[in-house]
Amino acid sequence: MRLEGSCHCGKVRFRCEAYAPVPFLHCYCSICRKTAGGGGSAVNLGARAATLEVEGREYLGVYQARIREGDGSCRTSSGRRHFCTGCGSALWLFDPDWPDLVHPHASAIDTPLPVPPERVHMLLGSRAGWVKAPDGDSDKHLDGLPRESLEDWHRRHGLLDD
Ligand SMILES: [Zn+2]
Ligand SMILES: [Zn+2]
Repeated sequence: MRLEGSCHCGKVRFRCEAYAPVPFLHCYCSICRKTAGGGGSAVNLGARAATLEVEGREYLGVYQARIREGDGSCRTSSGRRHFCTGCGSALWLFDPDWPDLVHPHASAIDTPLPVPPERVHMLLGSRAGWVKAPDGDSDKHLDGLPRESLEDWHRRHGLLDD
């Protein structure tokens, strides 16, 4: 599925081909919560890095989170969170450890996205205390990470767009 996205101020526009375009996976980790804003979660999609085209590259900022380990030491996340330096909109995540993929934030996509048949709320163990994840019949809750990849979830639901 072809996705068109942009930041709020319009300095950055991008497009890409998504194999996993259904916005079902909500992440409540502290990095997503703080950098993507909103109701305490961010929603990433799966797209092919080779198809990413960007206008306004000069306005891109990149953030690599510092992650505190259990023993008190810090490491730098390999994930590169791209945002607009003009307005702060979170745009996509790229991780050189997975160079074929790019993960656009659903919040930045202007193309109407499919409505997910179920939602998975992950890393709820890191959510802010005031956040209550929706818990309807089609909501799944996970304290940690899902075992199923974005690709596997889409395949299981017959929604993979190769
Ligand atoms: Zn902007
Ligand atoms: Zn997250």
